[in-house]
Amino acid sequence: MKVISTIRELRAALGPHRLLGRTIGFVPTMGYLHEGHLTLARHARRDTDIVVASIFVNPLQFGPGEDYEAYPRDVDRDRAMLESVGTDYLFSPPVREMYPTRPDTYVDVPHLGSMLEGAVRPDHFRGVATVVTKLFNIVQPTRAYFGEKDYQQVMVIRRMVSDLSMPVEIVPVPTVRDEDGVALSSRNVYLTPEERRAAVRLNRALALARSLVDEGIASPAALERRLRDYICEEPLAGIDLVAIRDADTLEDPGDAFPDRILVLLFVRFGKARLLDQVVIENRKAEG
Ligand code: AMP
Repeated sequence: MKVISTIRELRAALGPHRLLGRTIGFVPTMGYLHEGHLTLARHARRDTDIVVASIFVNPLQFGPGEDYEAYPRDVDRDRAMLESVGTDYLFSPPVREMYPTRPDTYVDVPHLGSMLEGAVRPDHFRGVATVVTKLFNIVQPTRAYFGEKDYQQVMVIRRMVSDLSMPVEIVPVPTVRDEDGVALSSRNVYLTPEERRAAVRLNRALALARSLVDEGIASPAALERRLRDYICEEPLAGIDLVAIRDADTLEDPGDAFPDRILVLLFVRFGKARLLDQVVIENRKAEG
């Protein structure tokens, strides 16, 4: 695996592959990798000729007072992990390479990007859309892999790619979880052992949502109330967001469940803000 830190060098390395008609699979990350990231890289390895991963903690997507400075970093470990799954190139640019000056051009997906997590973190998705556009321009991938754990992020990127006719296929990958069901996240490192144990409540709340829908709970509002109550029973959990949405549009479904129900949770445990979600097929809608 070749590790590259400048845009010029990466373009020089990838150009010949492109000329030979090789497909390029791209896995953008912020590093401090875990099995979730590696699963994206394995998918890319399976599907495409050349696998490029990036590690870049993007300052544009962090708000004031968020964890940009504290975000965990361990490039040597990440490098070995990416190598072990057959990554060909690791692009890990310093901030000054990506943003030599404060950018005056942004990519914004303001409707989708201001909902849900975007309401809690203003400008977050503008930062994501801008850096992903920049990385797509640098790597020019055939396919790019994103985790469904960040469901809204996948929606925002898909919309951006469609609206701007970007020549890349977006491939979503299911969430990888620990044995107890907690979604893997670089931010889990912020959890104390006690908070880590408490965090199982997120995944359990999603399982509860599924069974309540199957049992025919009356409305999205009733489901939201039950989930809030269930999460609040855990004293270490602080709710930022419990949302029931139409999984295809992220819109509020009003009184009736849509065909595909997104249940999205954004909950604080100590210093960590954890995100988890599930899409539930509404069997009633099929019948
Ligand atoms: P991050 O480094 O957190 O920005 O994540 C980089 C990519 O890995 C994003 O597309 C995430 O959605 C994805 N990802 C993070 N955690 C998981 C997980 N537990 N399972 C699958 N994909 C994940």
